[in-house]
Amino acid sequence: MSPNFRRTKILATLGPTTDAPGVLAQIIEAGVNVVRLNFSHGTPEQHAERVARVREIAAGLGREVGVLADLQGPKIRIEKFADGKVQLATGSEFRLICRADAPLGDETQIGVSYLGLVNDVRPGDTLLLDDGLVALTVKAIEGDAIVTEVQAGGALSNRKGLNRLGGGLSLDALSEQDKAHIAIAAQLDVDFLAVSFCRSAADIELARAIARSHGSYAHIVAKIERAEAIERLVEITQASDVVMVARGDLGVEIGDAELPGLQKRIIRTALECNKVVITATQMLQSMVDNPIPTRAEVLDVANSVIDGTDAVMLSAETASGAYPVKAVEAMARICLGAERQFKHDTDFEAAPRDLERVDQAIAMSAMFIAEHTRLRGIIALTESGGTARYLSRYRANVPLFGLSRFGYARRRMALMRDVVPVDFDSDGQSMRVAARKAIKQLFMQGHLAAGDRVLITSGDHMEQHGATNTLRLLAVGEGGNTEGLGEL
Ligand code: PGA
Ligand code: MN
Repeated sequence: MSPNFRRTKILATLGPTTDAPGVLAQIIEAGVNVVRLNFSHGTPEQHAERVARVREIAAGLGREVGVLADLQGPKIRIEKFADGKVQLATGSEFRLICRADAPLGDETQIGVSYLGLVNDVRPGDTLLLDDGLVALTVKAIEGDAIVTEVQAGGALSNRKGLNRLGGGLSLDALSEQDKAHIAIAAQLDVDFLAVSFCRSAADIELARAIARSHGSYAHIVAKIERAEAIERLVEITQASDVVMVARGDLGVEIGDAELPGLQKRIIRTALECNKVVITATQMLQSMVDNPIPTRAEVLDVANSVIDGTDAVMLSAETASGAYPVKAVEAMARICLGAERQFKHDTDFEAAPRDLERVDQAIAMSAMFIAEHTRLRGIIALTESGGTARYLSRYRANVPLFGLSRFGYARRRMALMRDVVPVDFDSDGQSMRVAARKAIKQLFMQGHLAAGDRVLITSGDHMEQHGATNTLRLLAVGEGGNTEGLGEL
């Protein structure tokens, strides 16, 4: 494979920066595989406009670019200050007013968006504002006011986020606004729908049911960013299609020191459950203002690749930063470097001894052959992308070509590590003929060369989901014709 084949995928958040002329095309050309629409900001028209441009650019470049809609979720925010912002002094008293008609804020008090907060907190609790920049200790509850003492003071401005250290706030994961946003996301035919602050499998199932009721088959992303989500990690992972290590809010609720360990645990759990995983937030934060990343950021991105993440995410770096293209280029470069330095060996000892699914058994067998022979790649003739997902959970050291006639399947595969999504139609041919046709197409597209050996997985019938039951080892001959293999 060419030295520029990057296994780890890049997810980039869209925003004012990527709306500037030319920027979106440049970041996609630089390697973005999936874009994120942040439903905490922007209007439905803006999201629609951005999606249309992404699809136009991707089509022009012949690339598969997925679209992820990220719901706001029950993010608790403070309301507005009379002067836009205040300076809170450490040791002073500060009140959070849980009343719909709270006055504009000042140095002594501010309204909050979640009126139930007053019932959820107890004296002694720590509340963190603006991702932990300001900390308050709850002293008492007086009617609809939470009386606090400023434990760590600082500047505070309008509508900053509020978290409780340790989590435990009783808000539903899907607000009425989120439910309305799912309908909008369905209209935009997004590929992924992310549920912020989910607490349970039920939250994920509810989001999926609402999406389906609007005709959307989006894959559901569970954002792991609450203490409760860590307690129910396996159940939430099993209920979702993709999980996100949402380090921003998670670090505030659980404490930043726990993040490295949790990141590894979330990634490992996702892979064990055959799910896709994204590592997110502040990955190249300093590039919001600077053209090169810090050494610590380089190490962080590389370590997430070594941890086994499918994708790494850019937030403000592309949405509102000064160097969006350089940030994507840096991400691509660092991922490639980490992939060169570290090879993941499939741990066959740790593999399940009682495989439940035929396509999973085929995937495991393919991995064994891939590790014990010289192969150019594995080709999965897949309808929904499912076989490619099983294959890619084992972190092979060869590229996986995921061939599907469905755009939605190819865009799902755009997020999976090691997978190259390819548009391919078997035209209802027999599997033997379809396999030859697939190899010829990959040869013509420059993915394969004469002399390469490939594995190809397929079902008896194309055009049937979850039916993969066959594994063939073939050699590519002159002109892309297929030859049988006598010996390894
Ligand atoms: P956000 O989610 O950017 O929507 O807050 C990611 C995170 O919390 O890390
Ligand atoms: Mn978050």
